[in-house]
Amino acid sequence: MSTRSKLVVVGASLAGIRAVEGARKAGFDGSISLVGAEQHLPYDRPPLSKAFLEGPCDPPYFRSESEIADELDVRLVLGAPAEKLNASERTILIGGEEISYDGLVIATGATARSLPNAKDLQGVHTLRTLDDAIAVREALDAGARTVVVGAGFIGSEVASGARKRDLPVTIVEANPTPLVRSVGEVMGDACSALHLANGTDLRCGVSVESVEGNSRVERVRLTDGTVLEADLVVVGVGAEPATQWLEGSGLELDNGIVCDENLATTVPGVYAAGDVARWYNPIFGRHMRLEHWSSAAGQGAAAGAAAAMPECAQPFETIPYFWSDWYDSRIQFVGVPDCDEVEIVLGERDSGSFVALYRSEDRVAGVLALNKQREIMKFRALIARRASWSDALSFARTRQQLATKGTA
Ligand SMILES: Cc1cc2nc3c(=O)[nH]c(=O)nc-3n(C[C@H](O)[C@H](O)[C@H](O)COP(=O)(O)OP(=O)(O)OC[C@H]3O[C@@H](n4cnc5c(N)ncnc54)[C@H](O)[C@@H]3O)c2cc1C
Repeated sequence: MSTRSKLVVVGASLAGIRAVEGARKAGFDGSISLVGAEQHLPYDRPPLSKAFLEGPCDPPYFRSESEIADELDVRLVLGAPAEKLNASERTILIGGEEISYDGLVIATGATARSLPNAKDLQGVHTLRTLDDAIAVREALDAGARTVVVGAGFIGSEVASGARKRDLPVTIVEANPTPLVRSVGEVMGDACSALHLANGTDLRCGVSVESVEGNSRVERVRLTDGTVLEADLVVVGVGAEPATQWLEGSGLELDNGIVCDENLATTVPGVYAAGDVARWYNPIFGRHMRLEHWSSAAGQGAAAGAAAAMPECAQPFETIPYFWSDWYDSRIQFVGVPDCDEVEIVLGERDSGSFVALYRSEDRVAGVLALNKQREIMKFRALIARRASWSDALSFARTRQQLATKGTA
């Protein structure tokens, strides 16, 4: 039986809906309010830069309104951004109304960065929300010539969606290769082959000088003097944790909401989950803020249970994992990309299907798989048990032998 009776979850997306489900699953029978800034029911974001851009596709809602209201017994407050947290009174200000809580989960995610001086032009978009995806899809429906700024996961997936419709697309990336931050330069270079093979004009090592047009975007000028004609510009240059509304609340903010291993913030009764949380991950012995689906889902469930029933609090530990779909290929990564060496251990770099291991000192720290879906989780187990580099290489040899025999 919980000592708490009123749970509020701010942020009605993946971590938020999982927080609500986690609280109910733990047996919490008090009141729950789920507060979201957007008008939409909670929806899933990964499809927005994939199937949703390729053609007609329903919004990827997690649950219907009646499932949320009736089955989960949750009061939904949508189109209502939380404006202020008063931690000493345990209240949140929303649209002039104060909502009180005794347990709170903050799951406000991240906000896409935009390009200064470009965001007021029509045809220039980021891709974070369902409304963004609808606008980008409409532009692709109209046959837009597309320039994508940033060759990270989202930018690369947008390019892939445009090429699947046979539309011209150019990616402009300031770094020497795509995905430098997420998988490092060596494997980023290997992934760039997918763009080239699918007719995307990938330009690395150059930046955007200006995005120009009258009321609509007409062209993008690059720092090397190139001018690209464009009807659609999608800016994929990362995201910032959505913590502005928490300034001055007493929560420790430092590239996200700082949490302990249980996802508890520095303020009693307040937990954080998902892209907004920078929590202590016991497996790696350090604080991390991830922007990955699986960690947001897991953290949401854990933080919801802990905020509603403090006796359920337990450390949340995970090995980071994400995937991304480019053209008809799947890229998957587990672990961390900080490393001393990267070695392809299964398949070949140019074969379009391989597994690469990342070495940090004498341990395996990360694994990248390109079109090797059945392998990645087997290698993830190596990181979980802190396998040495030589153990990881010998495991890879075994997998290679099984693959050669056709029994893997
Ligand atoms: C287009 C796209 C594609 C992706 N693809 C992949 C993928 O292939 N693989 C992968 O691993 N990950 C992917 N991700 C990342 C993954 O979707 C995120 O990690 C996940 O959505 C994070 O969930 P969250 O609930 O923490 O935050 P979010 O999903 O960002 O949700 C936060 C919610 O809080 C709301 N909010 C913000 N401020 C307030 C406020 N003050 N008051 C009330 N509500 C507020 C926002 O409107 C939003 O609805 C993708 C992300 C995007 C945007």
